[in-house]
Amino acid sequence: MSETFFVTTALPYANGPFHIGHIMEYIQADIWVRFERLQGRRVHFVGADDAHGAPIMLKAEAEHVSPEALVARIAAGRGRYLEGFHIGFDHWHSTHSSENTALSQDIYRRLKAAGLIYSKPIEQFFDPVKGMFLADRYIKGECPKCHAKDQYGDACEVCGSVYAPTELIEPYSALTGAQPVLRTSEHFFFRLSDPLCVEFLQEWLAVAGHVQPQVANKAREWLSGKAEQALGDWDISRDAPYFGIPIPDAPGKFFYVWLDAPIGYLAALKSYFDSGKARANGETRSFEAFLGAPDTRQVHFIGKDIIYFHTLFWPAMLHFAGAPYRAPDNVHVHGFITVSGEKMSKSRGTGISPLRYLELGMNPEWLRYYIAAKLNAAVEDLDFNPADFIARINSDLIGKYVNIASRAASFITRHFAGVLEYPSGTEELTLRARELLEQVRSSYAAREFGRAMREIMAFADRLNQEFDARQPWVLAKDPARREALQDSCARALYGFKTLTCLLAPVLPAVAERAARELFGLDRALTFADALAPPRRVNPYQHLMTRVDPKQLDALLEPQEKTVSETSAPPAPTPPAAIATDAPATISIDQFKQIDLRVARIAAAEQVAGADKLLRLTLDLGTETRTVFAGIKSAYDPAALVGRLTVMVANLAPRKMKFGVSEGMVLAASGPAGGPFLLTPDVGAAPGMRIS
Ligand SMILES: [Zn+2]
Repeated sequence: MSETFFVTTALPYANGPFHIGHIMEYIQADIWVRFERLQGRRVHFVGADDAHGAPIMLKAEAEHVSPEALVARIAAGRGRYLEGFHIGFDHWHSTHSSENTALSQDIYRRLKAAGLIYSKPIEQFFDPVKGMFLADRYIKGECPKCHAKDQYGDACEVCGSVYAPTELIEPYSALTGAQPVLRTSEHFFFRLSDPLCVEFLQEWLAVAGHVQPQVANKAREWLSGKAEQALGDWDISRDAPYFGIPIPDAPGKFFYVWLDAPIGYLAALKSYFDSGKARANGETRSFEAFLGAPDTRQVHFIGKDIIYFHTLFWPAMLHFAGAPYRAPDNVHVHGFITVSGEKMSKSRGTGISPLRYLELGMNPEWLRYYIAAKLNAAVEDLDFNPADFIARINSDLIGKYVNIASRAASFITRHFAGVLEYPSGTEELTLRARELLEQVRSSYAAREFGRAMREIMAFADRLNQEFDARQPWVLAKDPARREALQDSCARALYGFKTLTCLLAPVLPAVAERAARELFGLDRALTFADALAPPRRVNPYQHLMTRVDPKQLDALLEPQEKTVSETSAPPAPTPPAAIATDAPATISIDQFKQIDLRVARIAAAEQVAGADKLLRLTLDLGTETRTVFAGIKSAYDPAALVGRLTVMVANLAPRKMKFGVSEGMVLAASGPAGGPFLLTPDVGAAPGMRIS
C-alpha cells in the first residue's frame, strides 16, 4: 500500500506577520513535501492561522476592531510571504472556523465519554482593574521552579517548566500592573495523569520515528514527573470574556486556545477536502476515511518551544478520542534561527524581516538553499551569518552549480546547434548519477538537508574539475577535436540535469526554468529525470545572479531611522529617532516606531578604560540587554542596581570598543546639570511598553 502524507507546520499565531522563524519552518517542511512528491508520493500540505486566545482578543480591543477583523487582516497578508518564498501549502485555513468548532467539540465530547474530562472549582487570578480573569500570559512573576524573575503565568522561558499561574511567586497583572486577586471558577481538565494516558504516551514515544530521540527523552522526563515539570492534568477551559470555541453544555466557558489550536490541523485538512482541492490533488476518499486510513501518515513540523503540547496532549487527545482520529506518525522538531549568533527578537530590531528580504529583490531561493544547507534532523539552532550566506550562494550555487550550465551550454549551442551527443557513452555517467540520487534521496528522507546539499555540491565540484581538465575552450579552437568538445560539454550538462533534479525540492523555480528554457521540456522535472541523459539544449539564459553584499547590508540594517554611526557612546539624551536633524514635528506613527520599555537595572559596572561609561545589564522581563550608558559622572553603579528606568528597546545594536550596546537608557540634562536618569511611577514593571 502506498502511503499518503498529511503534512502541517505549526500554526502561526494570528496577531502579527510572519517572522524569519516561521519562514524557516515553512521552508523546511516545503522542501520535504516537494521531495516526497518528486519521488511520486501524494502529499496534502495544509496550514492555518491560530486565531483564538486572549492576546488576539486584547489586541483587537486595543485597536477598536473585532477579533475576526484583526485575524482577517493578518490572514490577508500571508500570501505575499508564502508565494514569495515558493512555499506551496495546498490550503490555508483558520482555527476560527466552523470546521474547527465542530472538530474541537467532537473531540471534547469523545474524551468526556472516555472519562478523561472532569471539572472542579479552582482559584484563579482576576485583575480587579481590568475586570477579567487573567489569561496565563497576562500574569507574570517569579518561576516557582528555577526562580527566574518576570516569567509568564503558564510557562517559564528560562527553564521550560509549565505550571499554573497561581504557582508564580509575587504575581502581578501584566495588563495593569495590579496585584491580581484570587477568585473561584469552575474549570475543565483533561486527565493527562491518568495511568492509561501515561502508558499510551510511553508506548507512542518508544516507537522509532514518532519523534527524534532527544525529543522523546524530554517528553519522558515530563511523563515520569522526574523533571522540573511534574505531570499534572491539563486545564483546558477559560472563562468569558474569551475569543475561542464554546465548551458544549458549559455556558460562559471556552476551550483554552491550546486545545483547539492543534485541532486546527484537522480543521484545515477538512476544509481542504470540502473545498474540492484534495480531489484535485488525486484524493478520492472522504476526509474521515482519509484521516483514519492505515496508509495515511500524519506529519507535523514544529519548533522546539512547543514540544510539550505536541508530544503529550496532542497524541493523547487524538488517541483517546478514537477513530478516525489517530496519534501523529511523526512530529519533527527543529531548533530556532539566530542571526549572527543572536537570538531573534522583534522588539530590538535584530533578525531578518522576510518581507524586507523580498522587497529588496533578494532571490527567495538563496534563502531556501542557505537554510537547506544548514538544516539537519537534530533539534539544533541554525545561525544566519551574512558572510557565510554570501559565500555559500556565490560559491556553491553560482560558482559550482549554475556555472556548469552556462559554460557547457554555450559551446553546444554555438558549435553543435544544441544537439548533445556522448561519444564516450552514458553508462558510467548514469551509474554515478544513480549513486548520487540514492545518497541524496536518503539524506532528504532523513531530513538531513545539509548533508544532501554537501553531496550535491561535491558532485558539482567533480563535474567542474572534469570539465576544466578537458579544456573545452582549447578544444573549441581545433576543428579536429569537435567530438571531444561535444563529449565534455554533454557530460557536464547531463550532470547539471541530475543536479537540477536533486536540487528541485530546494530550488523549485530554478528547476522549473531549467526544465523549460534549457532542456525544452513542457513538464516539471522529477527524480526519475536525474538518470535520463539530455539530448539537446536551448541557448543558456541566466538562471541566477550572485548575492550583492549591499543587499545584505540593507537587509540587516534596522529599518528605523538611526543616527549616523559614530564612535561616541550612545548619548543618554535625546532619543536617537528625534535627533537634531529630525523635522520639527513628528507623526504619532513615527513616535510609535520607538519601542520604549520599562527596564530594571539588574547590574551596573564600571568599564575599564572608559571615562564616561557604565555597563548596565537591563532586565526587560523576557530578556536582558547590555547597554553602555554615559552616566558615570552622575551615578555610583552600586546605587543603580534594582531601580527601574526607561530604555529605547529597538535601537540598532551598536558595536563599541568595550562591547555591543543593545539599546539606550533615557536621561535628562540641561544647564542645571545631569544626566538625570528617568524613573517610571510605582507599579510599572520590567518590559512594560511606554506610549
Ligand atoms: Zn523557570
